[in-house]
Amino acid sequence: MEQGVSEEEIERVTARIEAMGFRAHAIPGSLRTAIGVTGNKVPLDPSEFEILPGVKMAIPVTQPYKLVSREVKHDDTQIEVAGRRIGAGRFAVIAGPCAVESLQQTLAVAHAVKASGAHFLRGGAFKPRTSPYSFQGLELEGLKILARAREETGLPVVTEALDTETLDMVAEYADVIQIGARNMQNFQLLKKAGRCRRPVLLKRGMSATLDELLMSAEYIASEGNYQIFLCERGVRTFSTHTRNTLDLSAVPAVKQQSHLPIIVDPSHGTGKRDKVAPLARAAVAVGADGIMIEVHDNPDRALSDGPQALLPDQFDRLMKEVRAIADLVGMGL
Ligand code: PEP
Ligand code: MN
Repeated sequence: MEQGVSEEEIERVTARIEAMGFRAHAIPGSLRTAIGVTGNKVPLDPSEFEILPGVKMAIPVTQPYKLVSREVKHDDTQIEVAGRRIGAGRFAVIAGPCAVESLQQTLAVAHAVKASGAHFLRGGAFKPRTSPYSFQGLELEGLKILARAREETGLPVVTEALDTETLDMVAEYADVIQIGARNMQNFQLLKKAGRCRRPVLLKRGMSATLDELLMSAEYIASEGNYQIFLCERGVRTFSTHTRNTLDLSAVPAVKQQSHLPIIVDPSHGTGKRDKVAPLARAAVAVGADGIMIEVHDNPDRALSDGPQALLPDQFDRLMKEVRAIADLVGMGL
């Protein structure tokens, strides 16, 4: 749409698209609103839309993913969560334990990361574990603990939804719903998250290509939820010195194809505490819109992912470095 068009003009174009039997997706941008059209089986004639008042131009999208592509929306997407904007030059630090283990542990870590300057608290109440005998999460009790930690610290909460059955429950407590690497292609879950009004943090599958990641984001957007953070968290390779291989080149590659913000998770990306800070610094330098860091006050006794958790004082040091690098690359913290 043209810059500065009215709501009515956007609505008129939307109504016209719907009258043609298609779905209209009005995606707001900092300068102009883009309206994506989906549901057509054959290519549409751009001139049919260009004659409508307020339309600047109509562009046929060539990528298989439509709404998340740069072709539909040229400028970077900024997402607002609990009064904080992320993306398009605004950086976010998400930190906290891998899993919510107890009220005491969660509050201790939440207060620590808040004091160091984190913007979000993370922590899983539903944990996807390789072994059915490993700690599976505190579930509803865990969500309540996160809500309590948010109350005490003011930090909005990022937490994972594992399945369609519990998504609504998670959405009630979460400020951002995480969809994990193992669920990146759980299409039912993606569609349901797309019908939910909460921002979604979508992690890249451990063997997913970027096209597959963007197609998964498209599932969420196709249902009307455009508030999507992508997350690079490492992929499987032959290397054994790390748990996964953090693919930092994904950041500029994704930014070329998509307007969505992308976060980097060097905790799962390396699996090793001593490698988390170096890769976190690199993530800021490479242009990520945020980082997600696992922190634990007693990693040796953690119920999951202890070996990759930073101690609070290590996280504090990292925050200072992150601030310096973000400043250098023109990112606002
Ligand atoms: C997590 O964030 O704790 C997690 C399980 O991540 P991933 O889905 O990337 O393995
Ligand atoms: Mn973890």
